[in-house]
Amino acid sequence: MRLSLFAPCVVALAACSQQAPPPAPAAPPASATLQPAAAAAAAAAPVVPTRDGRFTADITAADLAAHVQRLASDEFEGRKPGTIGERATTTYLIDQFQRMGLKPANKDSFLQRVPMVASALVDADAITLDVATGGNVEKFAYRSDMVVGSLQANAQVEVKDSDIVFAGYGVVAPEHQWNDYAGLDVKGKTVVVLVNDPGFGNHDASLFSGDAMTYYGRWPYKFEEAARHGAAACLIVHDTAAAAYPWEVVVTGWSGPQLSLPVSEDPDPRVPVGGWITTQAARRLFAKAGADFDALKKSADARGFTPTALAAKLSVTLHSQVHNSSSDNVVALLPGSERPDEIVVYSAHWDHFGKDPLLKGGDAIFHGAIDNGSGVAALLELADAFAHQQPAPKRSILFLVPTLEESLLLGSRYYTLHPLFPLARTVADINMDELIPWGRSRDMAIIGFGQSQMDGYLADALKAQQRVIVGDEEPEKGMFYRSDQLNFARKGVPVLFARGGFDKLDGGKQAGRKAYDEFTHEHYHKPADRYDPAWDWSGVIEDVKALYAVGQRLADEESWPQWSADSEFRGAREAAKPAPKKH
Ligand SMILES: [Zn+2]
Repeated sequence: MRLSLFAPCVVALAACSQQAPPPAPAAPPASATLQPAAAAAAAAAPVVPTRDGRFTADITAADLAAHVQRLASDEFEGRKPGTIGERATTTYLIDQFQRMGLKPANKDSFLQRVPMVASALVDADAITLDVATGGNVEKFAYRSDMVVGSLQANAQVEVKDSDIVFAGYGVVAPEHQWNDYAGLDVKGKTVVVLVNDPGFGNHDASLFSGDAMTYYGRWPYKFEEAARHGAAACLIVHDTAAAAYPWEVVVTGWSGPQLSLPVSEDPDPRVPVGGWITTQAARRLFAKAGADFDALKKSADARGFTPTALAAKLSVTLHSQVHNSSSDNVVALLPGSERPDEIVVYSAHWDHFGKDPLLKGGDAIFHGAIDNGSGVAALLELADAFAHQQPAPKRSILFLVPTLEESLLLGSRYYTLHPLFPLARTVADINMDELIPWGRSRDMAIIGFGQSQMDGYLADALKAQQRVIVGDEEPEKGMFYRSDQLNFARKGVPVLFARGGFDKLDGGKQAGRKAYDEFTHEHYHKPADRYDPAWDWSGVIEDVKALYAVGQRLADEESWPQWSADSEFRGAREAAKPAPKKH
């Protein structure tokens, strides 16, 4: 009954807006807090998606639902880079940006080509790591003991009789006065390192960020640092608690073709062989060299740790099939009215996992409705709102929809290595990944809480909604380092990555936790991440309006948000010659 009452209104309003765009929102949407009555109505009424081309300039449930429904439909085939699903997705996004009157951000194109290399091991299960002491060789098996790969995507890689060094956490962190490589020469050697960082190892809140993971704790960093020191191979010792996921996740992640940017497009050095070994395999490897893994591991947690050369040599040979291809970032620009060379970025990745015909149970498509149809829908709603805003924002706004987020964040990595606008003039990146339509909450959770002044921007925006910011519920998982904002941060651009918190108006923290756990277990990275017409968008609308207010302030003010004094990314901003504060 409700449906038939509400549906004609939605359609009528939408149809009207197609002929004559509604007046731009005069007041900042942050102050336009959803009134309780409206929220109740929104929650009660099923959302009827507007049809193509009938979107409003306001941030509405109907618009958000329509975008997600379309992006997660069978027609988009799970939005896998390099498939017909990519064409459907990028075409849809370009159509939307053109409808809003936004400009192509890459000269006359809405696309930025991202070259990629796929490298697949030939007969992976036959590969062994051979650890020799004297003439005595001990073999470590692929999958059960270790996984390895060619990080430079070379067809053939051979590491022979390489000296093995235990380098603790493999961290060089000047702001924490920590250097596991001090006085160490690892050129051509094999570095064995621990996952996470000494703060986690020691559970000492004064070391690094204590139990909260830092970038130094993440595995891509370990490989980068080993490569900077000229190592031939880098092996990370897996530990479920320290990595925040079990060994099976490592094995799955390293199975099949591994994507990367071509070496020619990525200036950072790469270690020829990278991989992981299990804790048990590490104990065996160290014992083979007459060393005690557990004792050495413990010593790595304390200041004054000295790296240890193991009395053993490592050999491994890898054959890979290498295939070059490309995908596209989608880029749209709203030029600033006063300082167009200063850029505020909104980002939300479009890619997902495609389809798998072998999946049992009927649905072979990874729809990616929440991940990240929701973030893309929010980005489109923000773009529409800014495009209609009067007066126009003073700084330019770039709407960046990266590809290959699910593949090591390669699309945003490529953008930050080949930025269309100088990163030193890029004010901030506001990234959206998985906005969950589970109703209104009293808070927004900042993933990467405490990193920069962006926290304060969001706190101010939420005040108008009588809401508050909270920190990441699970900082030990290092989620801050697992979406596209990371690449901006690494280049020193302050970032904001936030989503509706657990403290739901309806049911409190318990209900929020329950909804989140249900999503994680039942839907996340599964075909079950489908569009659901019963979703309650009222909370997402508030979240998106708050992110709108943050972007609006960044676009109109003259100052530049700063990193916190102890952030690992502060140095990168300083190195990039910070933009002047005054004009
Ligand atoms: Zn995602």
